Amino acid sequence: MVAMLPPPVPGNPGVPAWQRNAVAANWPAGRPAIAVVIDDMGVDRRRSTQVVALPAPLTLSWLPYASELPRQTAAAQRAGHELMVHLPMQPQAPDQNPGPGAMLVGLDPGEIGRRIDAALGAFEGHVGLNNHMGSRFTEDRAGMAAVLAALQRRGLLFLDSRTSGRSVGMEVAARHGVPAVGRDVFIDHDPAPAAIRHALERMEAIARRHGYAVGIGHPHDATIAALADWLPRLAAKGFAVVPVSAVVRARLAPNG
Ligand SMILES: [Zn+2]
Repeated sequence: MVAMLPPPVPGNPGVPAWQRNAVAANWPAGRPAIAVVIDDMGVDRRRSTQVVALPAPLTLSWLPYASELPRQTAAAQRAGHELMVHLPMQPQAPDQNPGPGAMLVGLDPGEIGRRIDAALGAFEGHVGLNNHMGSRFTEDRAGMAAVLAALQRRGLLFLDSRTSGRSVGMEVAARHGVPAVGRDVFIDHDPAPAAIRHALERMEAIARRHGYAVGIGHPHDATIAALADWLPRLAAKGFAVVPVSAVVRARLAPNG
């Protein structure tokens, strides 16, 4: 399923923003590809800096309420990583706080639009967004339609973090013509080192079977240590490490 992919065209205004801002992918034909997304970036400055120092290209998703995002994300871009916005969305558990500016079920469309504008405007050069939490909001068709319509207008992509098995994200993205992909594996749902290693092996198996795998991790010490060990060994094992935009492009390609 992996075809030769045209490189993104930097600076071409006729190209959608997600392709303009995409990091070039080195994905040789026939190689299974692995895309690693690190969520919750920007708040814990020390660990975020450690993530940026990992081998590129990773896809780094930044909480829009973190401080000094233009500076933090510019450094990540210089290191060769792809950028996303990590949009806070309402979870099922009422005691979990998604943070300021979150997408909440029942917010009026105008307020949803203002919050999305603010989040997407927090820094430049991102390819789109994925949801932070959101096990409640991503099940809400009306709310997700407002989010996906905003992405469609701006030419951005959507990564469904799949924090709910009943997320309508992929379906609503398809209806709005928004290029999208869903998360395959949570790398550090269980933060024990052995569990993280097992999750990384699962990513390899999924990539071999489907041509690619998308994993989401977080700026935790155990995750950073596991990735520092695992990422440099992937090429020798026959994998391509790609930004998430490359997977989205492959899904759009004919015969993909
Ligand atoms: Zn998150």
